[in-house]
Amino acid sequence: MRVGLYPGTFDPVTYGHLDIITRAASLVDRLVIGVAINRDKGPLFALEERVAMLEGETAAIAARTGIEIVVHPFENLLVDCARDVGAGIIVRGLRAVTDFEYEYQMVGMNRSLDPEIETVFLMAEIRYQAIASKLVKEIARLGGDVTKFVPAAVRRALLARLGR
Ligand code: ADP
Repeated sequence: MRVGLYPGTFDPVTYGHLDIITRAASLVDRLVIGVAINRDKGPLFALEERVAMLEGETAAIAARTGIEIVVHPFENLLVDCARDVGAGIIVRGLRAVTDFEYEYQMVGMNRSLDPEIETVFLMAEIRYQAIASKLVKEIARLGGDVTKFVPAAVRRALLARLGR
C-alpha cells in the first residue's frame, strides 16, 4: 500500500491544490494531506477551518478516484509526520522557478533527516499554475472576483472572513 503525504498551509485550499491532489491520487493508495499549523505565517483561517474546507473539497476526489484521502493537521517535523502516517512519498506542487529554490533546500534537508522518504513534484494544469493562496486572499480583500481560483464554499468563507 503506497501512502503519500501532501503537506502545506492550505490557507485556504485553492484549485491549484486540488489539481495536485487529483494528480497525486493516481500515484498512491492513500493520500494524507498534512495541514501545517504555521503560526509564523499568520494564517487567515484557523487550523480547524482549513481542515474542514479541505475535507469538504476532497471528498469528491476520493469518491472519483477510489483512493483514501485523509486530512491530518501536524505541528512536528515533516519527516516525522511522514513516519507517523506511514508515508514513503512526500508530494509537493511546483509552480514557477520561484518555488524551486525553497523546495530544493527542503528536499536536501529532509533527505538528510530521513533518506528513505522520497519527494515528488507535480505541476498543476496550466490554468491553475499561477494560483497562490496568498494572492487569492489579497484579491478577495481588495474586492476582486476569486471564482476562478477557489471552490464556491471557500469563496464564501473568504468573503465572510473579510466582512464582504
Ligand atoms: P506552503 O506553506 O507549504 O507553501 P501552500 O499551502 O502554499 O503551503 O502550498 C502547499 C503545496 O502546494 C506547495 O508544494 C505548493 O508549491 C503547492 N501549490 C500551491 N499552489 C499551487 C499551484 N497553483 N500549482 C501547483 N502547486 C501549488
